[in-house]
Amino acid sequence: PAKPIYAGQLPAGLQTISNIIAVSSCKGGVGKSTVAVNLAYTLADMGARVGIFDADVYGPSLPTMVSPENRILEMNAEKRTIIPTEYMGVKLVSFGFAGQGRAIMRGPMVSGVINQLLTTTEWGELDYLVIDMPPGTGDIQLTLCQVVSLTAAVIVTTPQKLAFIDVAKGVRMFSKLKVPCVAVVENMCHFDADGKRYYPFGRGSGSQVVQQFGIPHLFDLPIKPALSASGDSGVPEVVADPQGEVSRTFQELGVCV
Ligand code: ADP
Repeated sequence: PAKPIYAGQLPAGLQTISNIIAVSSCKGGVGKSTVAVNLAYTLADMGARVGIFDADVYGPSLPTMVSPENRILEMNAEKRTIIPTEYMGVKLVSFGFAGQGRAIMRGPMVSGVINQLLTTTEWGELDYLVIDMPPGTGDIQLTLCQVVSLTAAVIVTTPQKLAFIDVAKGVRMFSKLKVPCVAVVENMCHFDADGKRYYPFGRGSGSQVVQQFGIPHLFDLPIKPALSASGDSGVPEVVADPQGEVSRTFQELGVCV
């Protein structure tokens, strides 16, 4: 594949990271953070050294989804760097661990804050950094993609028709940046009740995206109360139930990133 485009040289803080994976969606609330966190913990379970960067400055989910003991990021005053917090061996950085409330900022400021947080962190040697991207395909996302050299992108969507148009936008953004989209995760696609399977949002938009854009993998995640509960409990589902159906899906996704 062609080399990804990024502005200038890769920042020093990111040079010790082998793979940077963006988990992206074009709308909020589709399960992007859920996928980012569970993918990261699956990769860690496979033996990789992993970090999660929560780039969603407006609505950071990482502090809710993962409960590290130390919930405030520490600074190395001398080196002017940020030391990630950690939970079960995975390094975590989020604006939500910066000890401030929700930010009211304009776009360029947000880009600055995200880039600073990302590039001044002492990530150390990592096999994977999973970036939980802010939803959408605007300037903030574009700038972020240009600061780092992304290895691959995973796009999360729900099956509604409307989401298809947005997903296409995301795929186009990554393709312009020459970042391969390795998988689409179609989240909340069905649930089982009374021995029957229900598709509350319809079917088929994921396979439409995959076919139209030649994306190699499509994964389905069902609506699962356990996924939602684990998201609120601070223990990712793949950690809470490593043998479960959800964990198996994430293991397959982990192999293809
Ligand atoms: P996003 O990052 O796209 O805004 P989140 O990952 O924060 O979305 O998910 C939004 C909410 O939906 C969270 O409360 C999460 O726990 C819940 N959720 C996500 N995926 C599922 C699922 N497959 N089944 C049940 N709840 C889910």
